[in-house]
Amino acid sequence: MFLPGRHYTCRVYCLLTFLAWSTCCLAAPAQPSAWIPAESPLNIAYQTIDELRSFYKLSDSPRSSRQGVYTMLNDTTTVELGPGPRTLRINGVDIALGRPLMRNGVGKLLISRDDWVYWVDPILRPTYIADRIRLGTVIIDAAHGGYDTGAPCGTSRESQVVLHVALALQKKLEDAGIHCVLTRSGDYFLSDRQRVDQSNAMHGAIFVNLHLNKSHSEAAGPAVHVPAPISDTGVPRPVEAFSCKSAALAYALQYMLSAELHLPGAGCRHVHYSILNSLSMPAVSVSLGYASNPREAAALTDAAYQARLANALARGVLNYARATDPQATIPVAAAFSPHAKAPSRKEFSKSPPDKPKTRGKPRNGRQNRARR
Ligand SMILES: [Zn+2]
Repeated sequence: MFLPGRHYTCRVYCLLTFLAWSTCCLAAPAQPSAWIPAESPLNIAYQTIDELRSFYKLSDSPRSSRQGVYTMLNDTTTVELGPGPRTLRINGVDIALGRPLMRNGVGKLLISRDDWVYWVDPILRPTYIADRIRLGTVIIDAAHGGYDTGAPCGTSRESQVVLHVALALQKKLEDAGIHCVLTRSGDYFLSDRQRVDQSNAMHGAIFVNLHLNKSHSEAAGPAVHVPAPISDTGVPRPVEAFSCKSAALAYALQYMLSAELHLPGAGCRHVHYSILNSLSMPAVSVSLGYASNPREAAALTDAAYQARLANALARGVLNYARATDPQATIPVAAAFSPHAKAPSRKEFSKSPPDKPKTRGKPRNGRQNRARR
């Protein structure tokens, strides 16, 4: 379970890390409530899944360990880890962990502090996200435009498809009383710098960039990307300040996209994407589907399907706004469900996990680089 086996380099990496890890743990027994180890082989702090389960008052599921997936749950939330070393699933939404799950010297499953702080906690406890403010403006950014038509998509082009969805999303949100701004409202070119400058001039906003994905002909489903909070050299990026909000927004959007389209989707992941890295607000990039998949490309050019995408995104934004409102009292992932009940806040009285402070060595995990 959780031993990466598909790639030789990954197996070697895991083996070396595990051996060094075991040595470290034997030398200095872990403290149950502290981030452990203080110095891992890669200088990355980890924590036991036992601690995480207890912190969020989850219970072991009878399904645990079935097919290499460890499951824990409560009345509103199901958290699954595995079978892949970077696979986390919260209420059915896949999230790509920035660091592989590990085991310590006594076989305890471990999750990195970065993944706990920047993925798990904002999703399970959005009301604990720092500096929450009432949602003011949604900036809808239809990618490409003008001579930059993006990928071919059936009988249309990516620039046209994302613009249609952007306009439909604007209408749905404005009907719900949310102020929206489109970076482009027609078929013309805008540079990344123009999009960033225009957006950063606004306050209390969130940024939703719309793209299509491109891969092999079978790849399908929407995905939501957020800027990676930590650079390849281990230094927190300026966007780190918004990372928890971005994670919550990504989860809310992916949750509703999967529910609306009845597709599992490609989930949420961190990327190094220049336009997102330059924004001073919560920001996500939504890949609405795969232009390279003929069946999905045909759907993406269909007005009814575009309306469903816009509807799902609008519901996701509204759920995000509700869950992260300063007055919100819904402290769990279920906050993003339209049927969520509000559990007692007393159940979650502990302080949030500390954020990582310094790192002495570069991160060695695989980071996704968006090439668009
Ligand atoms: Zn694109």
